[in-house]
Amino acid sequence: MRKNKGCSNESCQAYKKKRNYKETESFCSECGSPLVYVCKKCYKQLPTDAEIYCVRCEAEREDSKNKGIKFWGGGVGLISGIGLVFNIISGKNPIDEAKKAIDIIKNIKS
Ligand SMILES: [Zn+2]
Ligand SMILES: [Zn+2]
Repeated sequence: MRKNKGCSNESCQAYKKKRNYKETESFCSECGSPLVYVCKKCYKQLPTDAEIYCVRCEAEREDSKNKGIKFWGGGVGLISGIGLVFNIISGKNPIDEAKKAIDIIKNIKS
């Protein structure tokens, strides 16, 4: 993923506007300060260029991701359940279908 660079000068307009610079740029076009890697979300200066988000934003992101997985897992489980009932009615092997449903949920969670 693309990293974000920002001005390191706190009194600079570019900093205040949370302006993002390209990775290829190394100096602020407003004040000439050297650019630093900043959090994509909150513009906080990052200690290394290995991250895109700061520790706090990354934790928040993980949180919402986990919520999303739970939501989708539940949704697929429900759909599979409906499918299972349908298959029992139409004469398919319900155990095989249940296994398939569990596999689908497992795949989503991993
Ligand atoms: Zn600047
Ligand atoms: Zn952040």
